[in-house]
Amino acid sequence: MRLILCGPPGAGKGTQCKRIVDKYALTHLSSGDILRAERAGGTELGRKAQSYMDSGGLVPDDVIIGMMIGAIQKAAGRYVLDGFPRTLPQAEGLDKALQEAGEKVDAILNLLVDDPVIENRLTGRRSCPQCGRVYHIENLPPKVEGQCDQGCGRLVQRDDDKPDVVRNRLKTYHEQTEAVVGFYKAKGRSIINVDADRDIDEVTSAIFDELDAIKR
Ligand code: ADP
Ligand code: ADP
Repeated sequence: MRLILCGPPGAGKGTQCKRIVDKYALTHLSSGDILRAERAGGTELGRKAQSYMDSGGLVPDDVIIGMMIGAIQKAAGRYVLDGFPRTLPQAEGLDKALQEAGEKVDAILNLLVDDPVIENRLTGRRSCPQCGRVYHIENLPPKVEGQCDQGCGRLVQRDDDKPDVVRNRLKTYHEQTEAVVGFYKAKGRSIINVDADRDIDEVTSAIFDELDAIKR
């Protein structure tokens, strides 16, 4: 199964992807996670991405397209894309690469949440830098405050989850990323809209219902 999960920052893409990959045995390809790993590893790609990520802007398309197409090729037709494509050129780049490989995405899911809800989700988000698990100080607190439930150690707040950067990321989303859904609609692809302003488990079950129907 090849899936794309769209939605604004904080919609719950990462949270839901972790559950989707477990149930359907897929690889989670998160452009944000890959970029953070490159930064942590001090690679050239990571250094290039740094200033864009810190300000809440987007890393240049050519860097992202090369990075993600490489990851997709390794995932051998079983993946869920999270945070990519995020601009029209990225959507076009992905389309071209898939066409050349004779492949097609099975479903495009779009998580819907309004901006005020997102601000609270992002400023309350805490993540484990070791295993990537995501928590929320109120909505999904860890068992012991500030510590990953998996025993990895301290949770961190991402620098780009501070309020001023969050506002910029939302602006970037509306200006550059929202149009990606329109790109797929214009191509006649059906979009599965999911109300993501519900309990995490309810969102998961709505997504599983849709994906089970596709598998059948
Ligand atoms: P994204 O990958 O889309 O940026 P995340 O999955 O990291 O979003 O979720 C952002 C924050 O919101 C996290 O702190 C997460 O625990 C919380 N969260 C995710 N889904 C929900 C939900 N349905 N209800 C409440 N909080 C949620
Ligand atoms: P979110 O949790 O808000 O969805 P991500 O972890 O996906 O955030 O992304 C964090 C940052 O990494 C973005 O603000 C952006 O700077 C960069 N980034 C991630 N994916 C892309 C992409 N597809 N194109 C350009 N920049 C990206």
